[in-house]
Amino acid sequence: MKTPPVHYLHKRVLRLFMLLFLSSFTANINLSMKTDSDITSPFNMWSLDGHFEFKDTQHASRDFGNRFQFPPRAILRPESISDIVMTLKHVYEMGPSSNLTVAARGHGHSLQGQAQAPGGIVVEMESLKDQEMQVHVGESPCIDVSGGELWINVLHESLKHGLAPKSWTDYLYLTVGGTLSNAGVSGQAFRHGPQINNVRNLEIVTGRGEVFNCSSEENADLFYGALGGLGQFGIITRARIDLQKAPKMVKWIRVLYSDFSTFTEDQEMLISAEETFDYIEGFVIINRTGLLNNWRSSFDPEDPLQARSEGTLVTTEIHIFYVVSIRSLICGVLRQSTRL
Ligand SMILES: Cc1cc2nc3c(=O)[nH]c(=O)nc-3n(C[C@H](O)[C@H](O)[C@H](O)COP(=O)(O)OP(=O)(O)OC[C@H]3O[C@@H](n4cnc5c(N)ncnc54)[C@H](O)[C@@H]3O)c2cc1C
Repeated sequence: MKTPPVHYLHKRVLRLFMLLFLSSFTANINLSMKTDSDITSPFNMWSLDGHFEFKDTQHASRDFGNRFQFPPRAILRPESISDIVMTLKHVYEMGPSSNLTVAARGHGHSLQGQAQAPGGIVVEMESLKDQEMQVHVGESPCIDVSGGELWINVLHESLKHGLAPKSWTDYLYLTVGGTLSNAGVSGQAFRHGPQINNVRNLEIVTGRGEVFNCSSEENADLFYGALGGLGQFGIITRARIDLQKAPKMVKWIRVLYSDFSTFTEDQEMLISAEETFDYIEGFVIINRTGLLNNWRSSFDPEDPLQARSEGTLVTTEIHIFYVVSIRSLICGVLRQSTRL
């Protein structure tokens, strides 16, 4: 048999490669176009109060930890609860084969990518401002807020009525839904419990796009599942938070220890004793100059001084809150100092 000339073989191989290359390219385009339009077209057809962002999605692919970067396919900026309901219903109806995940994002202060949805939809909760915050005064005061509200705004609104939430985080630029999905811990937790212990009701949109009100009496499983549930039981769209009288003044005391056992003994005593302080917290700090101003510090694992125990101190930070007049304040301080 006559063998074909070499240049003819080269041509055939080249043509085959070209065909393979082009077919795989077309397949990729079709796949991505199909998936994109599956996702975007129904959303674009609805009259949403908010909108979808498909292009500028970079910031939702990061969080405070900056360790994992997974861009979502889209960001939903909801301006009403029905925006969230429609989206979740649609994703649910697409079924598991769509592999589409949805994550609520509060202020994005997670450290491990918890608020990310790789290739999915990130719901930016801070856009959800369809209802005003509402304070209920009376014997058992509380405030109704959006799940995307920052705690700093909750504080400002409550203070207008001389009230404040019972339990806090130290840092207040976190959202209500974000910390209620974790725990929300600070120096009042020893007395009132974390923030998840100081919530009366939640409004939640579940993965099927259904809206439930829940509390310890109504849909209690969902209520307790969502509190500290890392967003796995639905999206918290509204919460009713317990309030108390806001302190007018605070006495702030910091005690330094170089011995860890004495520190823990004192902490246990302070936490378990009746009627001591309103706020107790402990920190590890670096034993260096400027201690008084540098009351919190972070550690550099490369620094040998910091790694040694003599390089560190521990501190208990304690506060007494006063909601009373200056006269009773002085009596209170005297009482406290004699007791201690
Ligand atoms: C500088 C800094 C200071 C901090 N200080 C404290 C502190 O003092 N005390 C403390 O306890 N923690 C503290 N944290 C941790 C912080 O509370 C958590 O990381 C919290 O989840 C961040 O809230 P976020 O609004 O940024 O939520 P995100 O990081 O955006 O989300 C956190 C998780 O909650 C889910 N989620 C967000 N919103 C909702 C919603 N509406 N419904 C359902 N799920 C939702 C997300 O999907 C994600 O799983 C701090 C973090 C940082 C970076």
